[in-house]
Amino acid sequence: MTSHNSTILVTGGAGYIGSHAVSALQKAGYQVIILDNLVYGHREIAETVLKAKLIVGDTNNRPLLDEIFANHTIDAVMHFAAYAYVGESVSHPDKYYRNNVVGTLTLLEAMEAAGVKNFVFSSTCATYGMPQTEFLTEDHPQNPINPYGQSKLMVEKILADFDQAYNLRSVSFRYFNAAGADPSGQLGEDHDPETHLIPLTLFAALGKRDSISIFGTDYPTPDGTCIRDYIHVNDLATAHLLGLEYLLKGGETTKFNLGNGSGFSVREVIETAQNVTQKSFNVVECSRRPGDPSRLVGSSEKARNILGWQPQYSDLHTIMTHAWHWHQQRHKLK
Ligand code: UDP
Repeated sequence: MTSHNSTILVTGGAGYIGSHAVSALQKAGYQVIILDNLVYGHREIAETVLKAKLIVGDTNNRPLLDEIFANHTIDAVMHFAAYAYVGESVSHPDKYYRNNVVGTLTLLEAMEAAGVKNFVFSSTCATYGMPQTEFLTEDHPQNPINPYGQSKLMVEKILADFDQAYNLRSVSFRYFNAAGADPSGQLGEDHDPETHLIPLTLFAALGKRDSISIFGTDYPTPDGTCIRDYIHVNDLATAHLLGLEYLLKGGETTKFNLGNGSGFSVREVIETAQNVTQKSFNVVECSRRPGDPSRLVGSSEKARNILGWQPQYSDLHTIMTHAWHWHQQRHKLK
């Protein structure tokens, strides 16, 4: 990849996926400004690990956005800042629509006013809702089943309209299950509260939790547990870089799935964790979690074909090994 003097505004750059994207941008020679309200992001990741310029603030803060665009020549925006707890989005939809939809609209309005025309957006496979096919492609119907997925789909629609009206071009990436951590051990996943399977399983291995629960063992899958497509966070970051370069070269507005193309069951994830960590921990079989499809696996052929994206860390053992290094180190610090 070539080196650039372009400046990229990364919202949510102190968070999990955003911080890995910032690191990838820096390695490729981009200047980065992080905008993060630090509700879920980590100041020390932005300032100490990434050594990036951090502006603490909200995407709903239009005067702040205007000031950022006035003071810097921004070539593109990568937008990771969002709330992403599916359960909370059901109990507090207002919070999700305000932050994820209104916040993004405010950001897009500020971009339009400042003449910034390139936008890379964190979308999600949750925009598809219940899968109707074995491998989801980008043209699968989008019928989200929770406000989180709705909020992301609404932004995708706003982006299509902003392209029509204002020539603001965008790439939306629909992630499957982001997982793993930077192999350096310096960046990784640190959510509070944590709800995701891989970190919770590793917490059980670390002794921070008594057990890991399997949510449902009666699904129509080979071992009865849900199947998901786990994609390494560094592979997501690389895709963002390629998406940005595609836009900077004049590429048209489009959407890409980002997944591994292979699915792993909850039991397979737990077995892999036992192998990687060499720790034993209790596994408790529980009832289903509401709203979970039995299988969610994406086809990422489009990203491979158009962007030339090639995931580097597609095997679960590697993904889990990187996550384990990160959590071991993070645990020592906490
Ligand atoms: N899961 C589980 N136990 C947990 C957390 C998650 O069995 O403690 C299951 C969950 O039902 C789903 C899969 O693991 O089938 C992945 O869930 P996660 O919350 O990590 O990601 P999601 O697929 O919901 O985005």
